[in-house]
Amino acid sequence: MLIKKNFSLKKLNTFGINVYARYFVEVKNIEDIQKIFEIYPSIPKLFLGDGSNILFLKNYYPGLVMKMGIKGKKVIQENDYKVIVQAFAGENWNEFVKWTIKKGFIGLENLSFIPGTVGAAPIQNIGAYGAEVKDTLFKVQAYETEHQKIREFTREECKLQYRYSFFKHPHYRNKFLILSVFFLLRKKYKKLNTSYVEIQKELENMNIKEPTTHDLSKAIFNIRNRKLPNPKKIGNAGSFFMNPIVSILDFKKLKYRYPAIIGYDISHDKIKLSANSLIKNTEWKKKKIGDVGVYEKQPIILVNYGKASGMDIYYFSEKITKDIKKKFSIPFSREVNIIR
Ligand SMILES: Cc1cc2nc3c(=O)[nH]c(=O)nc-3n(C[C@H](O)[C@H](O)[C@H](O)COP(=O)(O)OP(=O)(O)OC[C@H]3O[C@@H](n4cnc5c(N)ncnc54)[C@H](O)[C@@H]3O)c2cc1C
Repeated sequence: MLIKKNFSLKKLNTFGINVYARYFVEVKNIEDIQKIFEIYPSIPKLFLGDGSNILFLKNYYPGLVMKMGIKGKKVIQENDYKVIVQAFAGENWNEFVKWTIKKGFIGLENLSFIPGTVGAAPIQNIGAYGAEVKDTLFKVQAYETEHQKIREFTREECKLQYRYSFFKHPHYRNKFLILSVFFLLRKKYKKLNTSYVEIQKELENMNIKEPTTHDLSKAIFNIRNRKLPNPKKIGNAGSFFMNPIVSILDFKKLKYRYPAIIGYDISHDKIKLSANSLIKNTEWKKKKIGDVGVYEKQPIILVNYGKASGMDIYYFSEKITKDIKKKFSIPFSREVNIIR
C-alpha cells in the first residue's frame, strides 16, 4: 500500500477539477483499511469511488483520500430461479452489470452504463429507466470507522429511497466505508422492465419484439449515448440536481401556470417533477457563464467546458437553485456530493 502526498485528483473526478489531496491511498483489502485507521486515526478522510458524483469546491483537500480498490465478484448462493451475488466495492458498476447479464442473471440490466463503483451504488440508491438499486439489493457489508469493525446492513436498514440511503444521513455520513454489496437476482420467469417509453421506442428502432437482458442493456446504451455527455470529453457528474417531489395539488397548480412542466406519479398523492422541464422553463436553459454551463440536451446536467473551478460550478448551481425555488415555490436540491 502506497500513501502518496500532495496527489492530484484531476483524473479521479469526472468534473475534472484539479484538486490536490494532502494524502492519497488506494486500499485493496481490509488490512489496508485497518492499517490506515491505525496510522491516521484522526485526520479527515474522504472515501472515493470513481468520482462521478462529487464536486470538490477547493483546490486542496487537507485530509486523506481513500480510493476504494477492493475487487471481486462471485455467486454466493443459487437455485433454479434465484441467485445471490456479492460484488466488492471497488468493482466498476457497469462491468459488474455486464457480468450478471453474461451469466444470465436478471435484475440489473436497466442500470447498465451508470458510471462509478459498486460501493457507491447504494449510497444514493442509483437509478435509471424505471429501476433502482433498491429493487435488487440484498445486504451491504461496511467497515464502521468509529469502532473499526465490519457490520452488515439489511436492505431495510439501508433505508433506500429516491437518491438517498441511511449512509447519506448527515449523522452517519463518512462513518461507514462500504466494502461489498450483495444482490438478489432472478434466473428465470422474470418479466423485463421495459415500462419506459424511451426504451420501448429504442427497442422498436432496433426491431426487437422480445428483448433479452442483453438487448435491453444495448437499448439503454444507445439512449444514454445520445443524450448524456461523456465525462472523458466534457466534465460533468450526471444529474446535478434531484427531481423534486411535490403533492398532486401543488403539481396541478404548477401545471396550470406552466403547462410545459412534466411530472410522474410515484404514489397515490405524490408527483416527481422533471428537473429538466423546470430548468427549461427558466432563463437558465442552455446558459453558459465562463466555463460552466447547463448541458443543452439535458438541463439537469451541469458541465465543465474545461477550466471551471469547483467554486464556479457551485455558485452557478446555487443561482439556478435560488431561481427555481423562487419562481416555482418548490423544494429544489442537489444530487451531487459537495466536498468542502
Ligand atoms: C455521465 C454520468 C451519468 C450518470 N448517470 C446516473 C444515473 O443514471 N443514475 C444515477 O443514479 N447516477 C448517475 N450518475 C451519478 C454516478 O454515476 C453515481 O452516483 C455513482 O454511484 C457514483 O459512483 P462513484 O464510484 O463515482 O462515487 P464517488 O463519486 O466517488 O462518490 C460518491 C459518494 O459516495 C461516497 N462513496 C464512494 N464509495 C464509497 C464506499 N465504498 N463507501 C462509502 N462511501 C463511498 C463518496 O464519499 C461520495 O460521497 C451519473 C454520473 C455521470 C458522470
